[in-house]
Formats: sequence, structure tokens, C-alpha cells
Amino acid sequence: MRASRLATVFVFDDVLLEGPGMRGPRLRFVHGCVTSLRDALSRRGHELLVLRGDPRVVVPELARSLDVQVVTWNRDPGAYARRRDAAVAAALDSSGRRGVSFKDHVVFEASEVAPCQDRPIAVYSPYRKAWWRRHAQAPPRAPRVWSLPPGFEAWPETALPTLPLLGATIDGATIETPGEAAAQQRLTCFLENAGASYRENRDRPALDATSRLSAAIRFGTIPIRECFRRAAEAIEDDPRRRAGLEKWIDELIWREFYQAILDEDPTRAWRNHRPEFDAMEWEEDDEGFDRWSTGRTGYPFVDAGIRELRATGHMHNRLRMVVASFLTKHLLIDWRRGARFFMEWLVDGDPASNSGGWQWAASTGTDAQEVLRVFNPILQSKRFDPEGDYIRRWVPELAGLDAQAIHEPWTLPLVAAGHPAPLVEHEPARRRALERHARIARGPSDP
Ligand SMILES: Cc1cc2nc3c(=O)[nH]c(=O)nc-3n(C[C@H](O)[C@H](O)[C@H](O)COP(=O)(O)OP(=O)(O)OC[C@H]3O[C@@H](n4cnc5c(N)ncnc54)[C@H](O)[C@@H]3O)c2cc1C
Repeated sequence: MRASRLATVFVFDDVLLEGPGMRGPRLRFVHGCVTSLRDALSRRGHELLVLRGDPRVVVPELARSLDVQVVTWNRDPGAYARRRDAAVAAALDSSGRRGVSFKDHVVFEASEVAPCQDRPIAVYSPYRKAWWRRHAQAPPRAPRVWSLPPGFEAWPETALPTLPLLGATIDGATIETPGEAAAQQRLTCFLENAGASYRENRDRPALDATSRLSAAIRFGTIPIRECFRRAAEAIEDDPRRRAGLEKWIDELIWREFYQAILDEDPTRAWRNHRPEFDAMEWEEDDEGFDRWSTGRTGYPFVDAGIRELRATGHMHNRLRMVVASFLTKHLLIDWRRGARFFMEWLVDGDPASNSGGWQWAASTGTDAQEVLRVFNPILQSKRFDPEGDYIRRWVPELAGLDAQAIHEPWTLPLVAAGHPAPLVEHEPARRRALERHARIARGPSDP
């Protein structure tokens, strides 16, 4: 597509702004990304038009007032985004203009990778095989460098709304630096340093061993194809990085897998992937939820994970698995309640990966395990934070304890001041979860 005039536009979508998940750290990150994009464009003598409103109204209106013929955007597999974008396209069409969407947030959309033609995507390993088959047939092309046509006209300037105006609840979370330059720097740093030992260290939350690129990938400040391409180049440059970076690439394909599930059927974001779990008897347990979501379960590793999330808008993957398992197995609280809480606090909050991760942890989803997995929060803590450094960082009232005592402070003669006693005991809670899941496996009883 060739154009002699081009306007770049970002719309702060009122529907998303008014939803529960867009008031805190994620909005701050997005606002920072838009600011940095606007600055980068202005260094090239180009304006980013920033609007706020309902895209179904403001985009066609803008197209009319600027008299442009074609409006383009990148696809989003979420249910609301699809409805919204279809409405924008229809409104453009009715005024004689065209709306054209592109793939950008994944390497392959669901329709391009079909592990089992007529059944929904459900299990990771066949998906992964099919993904690589497709990759061999049609490797993604390197991105083209974008340049502005000469003789560019200036568009009217629009003001960037401030965070309070967008309804942000300003909190103290110290979030990842937003914007393209920061993401590029982070990728380079990861590939050249921690990437080589990613396989061994990625489960150790006290180390800076993972890329921390999830928010940049989520909001497209780093293209996903570039992550794959540069990881492959880094392996070629130094084969000692192979084991680590191949594992990292595998995680990127996990992301593609969850995106494909949503792409195939957007209602799966909030539905049990295994429909028999619609009959699951979840507990209401408001007190349990309150203690879990404020990092006061009494299990230091679980509490450290939640406190990291509240302080930074990020949580290490090992902790996401442990805290999600604790909520859905030890407390038997519906995974959707935990997933909503994550969407409120995570900067990288993404309906596809979040639902996938929660359902994996709750065993209502794509996990192929035969025996119900219930993470033991004490063993997880001893195995993945053996020195207790991660706990010490986020649970200051336990900072004085040694590596021996820190995982089970309640066993000390004097309970550490300020740290609550365990909310539930591990073994009885595990048995209760096994029994509740066994009821689902047995199926509905005869009347
Ligand atoms: C309960 C639960 C909820 C989650 N919610 C989200 C979410 O809302 N948004 C999100 O981006 N990730 C989510 N994840 C996946 C994962 O925890 C994060 O992507 C990862 O911790 C981000 O840190 P990183 O960028 O350092 O990852 P790295 O370890 O460096 O991995 C590189 C990239 O691969 C992708 N990735 C890694 N692990 C996974 C995974 N298990 N599933 C899907 N993609 C993955 C991410 O894009 C990540 O940035 C969730 C996992 C669980 C268990």
C-alpha cells in the first residue's frame, strides 16, 4: 500500500479506560509508551495525533475530517477488540473509505497453525510441533524499515491527556521503563547476558535471569518477530547461548499458543477450557481472598510474590504459578477471581496469557497432567529461593531470618513480629482440593 499522506493516531479507548483493569500500573505504562512514541515521531518532524473517546466514533470522524481514504490498524484477538474493530471498519465502509487490519502481535495467527484441523487448540506440544512446521514452510520476513514519504504535510497538533485526566489511580508502583528504546535495550542486554543461562536460572526469582519484556511484547513496543529473529541470531553468534535461548524461544511459543486459543474463540478468556469444571464447587471465602491479595497468607513465598506484584506491576513466572495454585487449590477460590486481580495489577496483563496461566494452575485448562498438581508452597520456596533472598526483598518483617528459618517462620519459638500465621495448613488443604477435583472427575451423580 502506497500513500502520499500519512497520519499516525493513538486512541485512548473509553471502554478500556472505564474497565477495572486499566486504572493502575498498566495505564501508566501505556501512557509512557505513547509519550515516547510521540517524542520519537516528533524528532522526525511528524505528529502523533492522540485522541480519547469511543474508537467507533472518533476514528471514522477523524478519517472524514482529514479526508483520508484508508485507515489501518493491527489486529487484537480479544472479544471486545474484535467487535470494536469490526464496527470501525463498517463505519469507514459506509462513508466510502477502507479499514484494513494487519497481523502484528503474533508470528502466526490460529488459522495459520492448525495442529488438528477440526478440533479446538488444546494441548501445547502438538501446537508447538505444528508451529515449527509452519515456521519451516513460511519463516517470518524481517521487518521493513519505515520511512516517511518526502514532502510531508503537518497534521494539527493534539495534546496528550494527563494520567489523572485518563482516570489513573496514581500509586507508588515502580514499573518497567516504557517505550521502544528501553525495550530494545532490555532485549540486547538479555540476549548478551542472562540469556545463556536462562534454562538453569529462569525459575530463580531472586536473580535477574529473565528478560522482563512481557509488557513491551504485550503492547508492541518490541515486535514479537524481532524477539524470535534476534534470539536466533544471538545463538548463531555464540552457540554457547543455544540451550538458554532455545528455552526462551519456547516460552515465546507458549505465548503464541495462548494467543491462538483466544484467536480461535475469544470467549475462552473467561470460560473453563474444560467444560466439566463449570460444575466445580468453588469457595466464596472473602477473608481468604483478602489475605491472599494483600500478601498476608502467612506463607512467605506466596506473600512475597503478591507484594512484588503490588510494588512493581510485575510478578516472576514461578511466583505466578505458586500464588495461582495457592488460591485455586489451597483456598479453592475460582481462578477468575484471581485472574481479575492480576489484570488489575499486572503491567503485562493480557487476557490470553493470563487466562492460560490461571487455568494451567487451576487445572481447568490445557495442562495435560494426569494427577492433580498442588504446589507445596514450602517446598517451592526452599527449591527456588534456597537462600531466602527473594523473600527478604519483599517481606521485610522476615528480613532478619536465616536461610533455614525463612521458609517456615511459624516453626520458630518466637513468631516473627508482624508476619501472620499460615492461613491454612498445607496437607489438609491439599486433600480437600484432591477430593473436590475427584468429584468433577467422577461426573454428576445420579439423582
Ligand atoms: C497465573 C499466570 C498468569 C500470567 N499472566 C500473564 C499475563 O497477563 N501476561 C503475560 O504476558 N504473561 C503472563 N503469564 C506468563 C509469564 O508469567 C510472564 O509472561 C513472564 O513472567 C513475564 O516475564 P518475562 O518477560 O521476564 O518472561 P521471560 O521468561 O523472559 O519470557 C519471555 C516472554 O515469553 C512470554 N512468556 C513467558 N512465559 C510465558 C507463559 N507461561 N505463558 C505465556 N507467555 C509466556 C512473555 O511474553 C515473556 O515476556 C502468566 C503466567 C501465569 C502462571
